[in-house]
Amino acid sequence: MNDKNIKNEKMEAIVSLAKRRGFIYQGSDVYGGLSGTWDFGPLGVTLKRNIMNQWWKMFVEERDDMYGVDAAILMNKKVWQASGHVDTFSDPMVECSNCKSRFQADKINISKCPSCGKEGTLSEPRQFNMMFKTHVGPVDDESSLSYLRPETAQGIFTNYKNVLDSFYPDLPFGLAQQGKAFRNEISPRDFIFRTREFEQMEIEYFVHPEKWEESFEMWRKLVWDWCAAIGLPIESVHELEVSDEDRAHYSKRTIDFEFDFPIGREELLGLAYRGSFDLDNIQRVSGKSMDYNVKGTNEKFVPHVIEPSFGVERALMAVLSVAYTEDEVNGDKRVYLKLPEHLAPVKYAVSPLLKNKPELVAKAREVYDLLRKKHGAVMWDDNGNIGKRYRRQDEIGTPYCVVIDFDTLENDTVTIRDRDTTEQKLVAIDSL
Ligand code: ATP
Repeated sequence: MNDKNIKNEKMEAIVSLAKRRGFIYQGSDVYGGLSGTWDFGPLGVTLKRNIMNQWWKMFVEERDDMYGVDAAILMNKKVWQASGHVDTFSDPMVECSNCKSRFQADKINISKCPSCGKEGTLSEPRQFNMMFKTHVGPVDDESSLSYLRPETAQGIFTNYKNVLDSFYPDLPFGLAQQGKAFRNEISPRDFIFRTREFEQMEIEYFVHPEKWEESFEMWRKLVWDWCAAIGLPIESVHELEVSDEDRAHYSKRTIDFEFDFPIGREELLGLAYRGSFDLDNIQRVSGKSMDYNVKGTNEKFVPHVIEPSFGVERALMAVLSVAYTEDEVNGDKRVYLKLPEHLAPVKYAVSPLLKNKPELVAKAREVYDLLRKKHGAVMWDDNGNIGKRYRRQDEIGTPYCVVIDFDTLENDTVTIRDRDTTEQKLVAIDSL
């Protein structure tokens, strides 16, 4: 396995299944990999999209107070100067004088090098800015310098005024965005938990400055609802109230939502009250007013912001670790992904009992086409015997396997087998 830092058996089993079955591969694997990058295979991309679509449906489509945006990843460098990222988006880094490994100083015990084990070899911490630099245009000098965005949030703030001018929504209202973010993490680790390229789903919810607390509470509850909607057991999710010393200076309140991953309890997502910090910065640097004018009054102010910020890969890793299950069927060990039906990348697998009987294959194709029209995510599977097909479908979390046999030809009934109970039932094709 390429990621040296995966410590734990369950985590290893998940990483290995994810690779074997086409969910997640090491990035640039064929060339020996690129640290901190992962690629999504055919099933992984569907699972990831199902999680992202669930979020979009719940927080944009089903609400009247939310608007979606999709900003460019490359932004004017003034964005990152104004937001404070150029000056302060950094982690403390130490280097070992013996083995030259580098570490994030606040994540390790700095008396001894975690890689070579030598004592007293780690340097004094120095700040390392995590933004990836790039150049926009054919000349790579200071004037063309830009950055790959380290968060999606600034693409929302820079569009606040645009959306205000196009829609003039009543307060409170929010903007939501999903997309890639890039951070040159000092030590990427733990599979897709900490990577250098990942995806975020962020919301900036604009509120009256005196009414931030009620919106904060609303989002706090909605975060719990979302965790439930992607099938995370409530006892595995924990709120960590971030203390005054650890909170950003502009935030009056931040809650980190942590999850019991196989690697331990770690941050899944964050909920922060950011005051008017970001819009004030934009107003100061751009010289353009970020005021919200309350309809029918002379009241004007820069709105305050509640920011729920979700990481897609961390959500996916949480979903996979809840779903990963081992049990015994007829004395044999079985591995399956108990994915919630709405997230499973394949909803039905359709098989002819025997693949060398043309009449069974033709009937199975008919059922396959019918189900695919209705449900989309349906897989044709005629490899190996039925037992092997069930095992394979269990491992990718397919809730139902449908088998077409000789009875189907006579009675239009199929055998449907349930992933979780392994029970098989005879049902009419019409009722599928
Ligand atoms: P951490 O303390 O773990 O570095 P953070 O507090 O810097 O995270 P935020 O800046 O609040 O993270 O980003 C919001 C969300 O984006 C996080 O809760 C997480 O889900 C996700 N995220 C942040 N950094 C990474 C990363 N390197 N890899 C994967 N997801 C990430």
